[in-house]
Amino acid sequence: MSQTTFTSVKLQPALIENLTSLGYNNMTQIQAESLPHVLAGKDVIAQGKTGSGKTAAFGLGILEKLKVKQFRIQSLVLCPTRELADQVAKEIRKLARSIHNIKVLTICGGMPFGPQVGSLEHGAHIIVGTPGRIEDHLYRGTLNLDNVTTLVLDEADRMLEMGFQSAIDAITDATPSNRQTLLFSATFPDSIKTVSEHIMVDPVMVKVASSD
Ligand code: ADP
Ligand code: MG
Repeated sequence: MSQTTFTSVKLQPALIENLTSLGYNNMTQIQAESLPHVLAGKDVIAQGKTGSGKTAAFGLGILEKLKVKQFRIQSLVLCPTRELADQVAKEIRKLARSIHNIKVLTICGGMPFGPQVGSLEHGAHIIVGTPGRIEDHLYRGTLNLDNVTTLVLDEADRMLEMGFQSAIDAITDATPSNRQTLLFSATFPDSIKTVSEHIMVDPVMVKVASSD
């Protein structure tokens, strides 16, 4: 089993210190195999079981690239459900706690629109949300994704199973075409292959069998 420390990849010292304080000493296998490509700016498709540490694999990529002083939406993470979006936002906030003033906002269905519109007006660096509600905000003109540099599809297999294909397409179309696109999934059905061919450029494929 690989024992690769986070110091072997190009992360800013504040992130490394925080990882140490969180007790994240070694990268999980999926992190060790995907993070170097994520940090190099590549599109990445990573397949790994639940619990393999996928959130940090994309979360650290987002945080390393983030320009804190530019208060605009630079990253969008799509998740299948509100519960998963809340978990991802929590993990990103945890990873980001050594960098001051990073604003992570969750935008999910099943919540009233009014407060979400207010939160979006206040702004954020990172949005974590469910595809249907993100698409609704795009159509209402209450969300602008023109400054997104990283788009993440987390649990892409579940999002497609839930029928979010057209929402994902619409959202992707609303982001700049030169963005980095990262796709994480537990399984890799043909539907994912089709989607990835549409929205990713020359992706690096990473597949990890065990959960470490
Ligand atoms: P996945 O999305 O693949 O299901 P998560 O990103 O939710 O997995 O991570 C599972 C758990 O492992 C979380 O509690 C997370 O805090 C923890 N974790 C992730 N990476 C590391 C690491 N390098 N060292 C220790 N714990 C980690
Ligand atoms: Mg996950």
